[in-house]
Amino acid sequence: MHLRHLLGIQGLNPVSVTAMLDLAENYVLLNRSGKTQRDLLRGRTLINLFFEDSTRTRTSFELAGKRLGADVINMSVSTSSVSKGETLLDTAATLNAMNCDLLVVRHNQSGAPALLAQKVDAAVINAGDGMHEHPTQALLDALTIRRHKGRIAGLTIAICGDIAHSRVARSNLLLLTMMGNFVRVIGPPTLIPAEIAALGVTVHHEMQEGLDGADIVMALRLQKERMTKGLVPSAREFFAFYGLSAEKLTFAKPDALVMHPGPMNRGVEIDSEVADHPTRSLIKEQVEMGVAVRMAVLDTLARRPRWNG
Ligand code: ASP
Repeated sequence: MHLRHLLGIQGLNPVSVTAMLDLAENYVLLNRSGKTQRDLLRGRTLINLFFEDSTRTRTSFELAGKRLGADVINMSVSTSSVSKGETLLDTAATLNAMNCDLLVVRHNQSGAPALLAQKVDAAVINAGDGMHEHPTQALLDALTIRRHKGRIAGLTIAICGDIAHSRVARSNLLLLTMMGNFVRVIGPPTLIPAEIAALGVTVHHEMQEGLDGADIVMALRLQKERMTKGLVPSAREFFAFYGLSAEKLTFAKPDALVMHPGPMNRGVEIDSEVADHPTRSLIKEQVEMGVAVRMAVLDTLARRPRWNG
């Protein structure tokens, strides 16, 4: 698979997604065995450049890089020159001069990683850009689903809540429809963009109808930081209509599994009883798969020759 950067699910195809998941599966086994593969990225430098907060994504890229032997440097915006007025492109030029090999970028502006990718020699990985994409989240979700359902095609997958502001939803819609699943989005009209049906998904405004027969139910956080106006009357009301409770989960298939990308707002989009369910919740496993998928992504991108000699 020849991949220069990972900027989004857009740009991948079913063959490259399957290859990435197969490689990640090997890393799940390696991680569970407690072994590492420190020679793979020995001598390579990975910079985690985060302009937005992150817990799971930053940590798992760091762990993934270290398990493969890379030198990992974490830069967050509050400690960088950007807070002193340096532009994104100046930062790119500085990082480029340091001969970094892999640049993991999270930014609140859609398209920022793609812009950086044009300016740096490093392979750029989008770790979440605005409301646009979060490709490694969609890959780790796909790996989690495939491990439990034995396939990542022909499944009915319901994504609930704040679709409009979610880069996780967008990357998942692209990946899951591309792989041949039946994807439904469920939420209030204010949180579902009108043009979404063009992506090949069905839109529902009622949980009962949208969850009917679902194999997988994904709950999403209300992304208040991206809402310019009040789109939801109150968290309590949202929970009453769209919060994933044990009662609402009965609308899905009896063996339906529950996912959430985190961070969770318990009692808003998901009830603790569902989130912590020992057999039906895959939320902790998603975190584990995140490390394996990121190892697969770093491995794949590092296979190319160094562009700066
Ligand atoms: N962690 C995910 C993201 O960065 C989801 C979220 O923040 O709700 O997009």
